[in-house]
Amino acid sequence: MGNYKHILLAVDFFEPAQVVIDRAKSLAETYKASFSIIHVVDNMALPDVGYALDTAYDIDLTSEMIDAARKKLFDLGKKLGVEEGRLWVELGSPKLEINRIAEENQVDLIVVGSHGRHGFALLLGSTANGVLHHAKCDVLAVRLQDN
Ligand code: AMP
Repeated sequence: MGNYKHILLAVDFFEPAQVVIDRAKSLAETYKASFSIIHVVDNMALPDVGYALDTAYDIDLTSEMIDAARKKLFDLGKKLGVEEGRLWVELGSPKLEINRIAEENQVDLIVVGSHGRHGFALLLGSTANGVLHHAKCDVLAVRLQDN
């Protein structure tokens, strides 16, 4: 097998998963691979504001969340020396968006944490599991301890 050429790190920002970030970055350096980072604003996790509120409220909230996510991702990108064109903020289902961006950009390794926001109850978090099941490339789930 050849070296990895394009590594995509998926971050959720809930867990300070520095170990996942460090692992992805160091693999990219080892393989001299392109390095991209994605965060997906999970539209299913947006607060259920109920039908009584008007749609403008939903749209404002969503765009505020996207702006906040973009800022966090750009800060992280700056820290890691990743150019803006390789930072992805998407809206939708994390597992589907991570795999879509990976396929569209010829990513050959996706790096996720074994757990994130969806907790430690499962052996693999639901996003990590979903990415693994649908991915057309290799997936590395970096083991995170539950304490
Ligand atoms: P979870 O399945 O939520 O426990 O998360 C497992 C891992 O999936 C996290 O450590 C991240 O690497 C990735 N992940 C989860 N949610 C997102 C998200 N919204 N955007 C990007 N990556 C995510």
